[in-house]
Amino acid sequence: MITNQELVDRDRRVVWHPCSQMKDHEWLPMIPIRRGEGVWLEDFDGGRYLDAVSSWWVNIFGHANPRIANEIRRQLGELEHVILAGFTHEPVVRLSEMLVAATPPGLTRCFFADNGSSAVEVALKMSFHYWLNQGRTRKTRFITLSNSYHGETLGALAVGDVALYKDTYGPLLLQPITVQSPDCFLREAGSDWREHSTRVFEEMEKCLDEHADETCAVIVEPLVQCAGGMRMYHPEYLRLLRAACDRFGVHLIADEIAVGFGRTGTMFACEQAGISPDFMCLSKGLTGGFLPLSVVLTRDHVYDAFYDDYATLKAFLHSHSYTGNPLGCAAAIATMEIFGDGNVLERNRVLAECMAGAVEELVDHPHVGEIRQHGMILAIEMVKRRAGMEEFPWQERRGLTVYRHGLNNGVLLRPLGNVVYFMPPYVIEEDEIMTMARVAREGISLATAG
Ligand code: PMP
Repeated sequence: MITNQELVDRDRRVVWHPCSQMKDHEWLPMIPIRRGEGVWLEDFDGGRYLDAVSSWWVNIFGHANPRIANEIRRQLGELEHVILAGFTHEPVVRLSEMLVAATPPGLTRCFFADNGSSAVEVALKMSFHYWLNQGRTRKTRFITLSNSYHGETLGALAVGDVALYKDTYGPLLLQPITVQSPDCFLREAGSDWREHSTRVFEEMEKCLDEHADETCAVIVEPLVQCAGGMRMYHPEYLRLLRAACDRFGVHLIADEIAVGFGRTGTMFACEQAGISPDFMCLSKGLTGGFLPLSVVLTRDHVYDAFYDDYATLKAFLHSHSYTGNPLGCAAAIATMEIFGDGNVLERNRVLAECMAGAVEELVDHPHVGEIRQHGMILAIEMVKRRAGMEEFPWQERRGLTVYRHGLNNGVLLRPLGNVVYFMPPYVIEEDEIMTMARVAREGISLATAG
């Protein structure tokens, strides 16, 4: 029998972990996970952790979900992978049909990649190339929102705006045009989300007016800027943005990698604004959190702009080895079928209310600046002082205290700076929400004392 310690020792000799200062692990324990079931992860010594963050927001129907696991198992016996250039397979066709039917109207074509960042790269390149194929050679730039996040590969990093991840690589990056985010945490006292998001839109309108002729697309995370601290805004912003992009002849890229598949209360966040983007990027929940797969959906007119005789060299010559992997597609089909069969979104509404109720007592906490929520994402912003929403200096790593308290009490919370959030798998039960919230409340009090 392997023990936690044994695996951790072996790990430290050979593994370099993502998004980590490895030196922290001299004092911060690495948690080796042996198995998962539902919202629970179990280590080698029998310790259990409630996965309140869905393992980086990918898991939606529970770890080791039997229905998804069985579908992958069945597919494994048929075909593990095949090149998708010149060849096709049933899972990729079936999944594409399902995605076209489930996403907002007008999105009719699916281009597959294998992770979120790659999907963003595809959307950026496709948008640029679309305009090029139309002879619009001046369109080479992208508009992005402050505090946005679209991934870590160089193109995706460039159109994001989280300094912690981006600044180091500045010399390597494209230069997007950055416009103020509609983030409602920053709204003036007395104004509501709708007013604030609408007012902030004026800057976007001005920017489009000035830069439309050199801009390929505006890229946004609909409703929630997740990696930027679960900052949220009103759907009205998206409605205004869609209309303006049409008016100015600029594409709209909706990065629903984190918010798609029911996270914000609707199947896709764009639905809450009643809009359809020109490109929609999906990943994470796409496979229920089982396998890496991503897809960019786009419209007929985009597809048609690349469709010509080979010698025109208009084709989109972009590929990844594992594009449209059949196992990933099988997992995604099973995930879509679970949505199709059940009352997932309805049940999520009940769970979302339960999460809100479970942290209600924090509303008056002297170090809680805001509790905000869009569906199955609930975030609690810890502040040094509520007056003026004064932040705790990042060097104090207050969130880390919450993280450690969580682990010591069987809950995986992974705050983003000073923001503690819940983004659990949808199979969570009400008593598990109570546990998650209790541990978070204790952790916040501990982290903000002194
Ligand atoms: N876009 C958004 C909105 C994301 O939240 C993420 C991942 N956190 C990405 C893109 C990148 O996805 P991946 O980590 O799979 O490259």
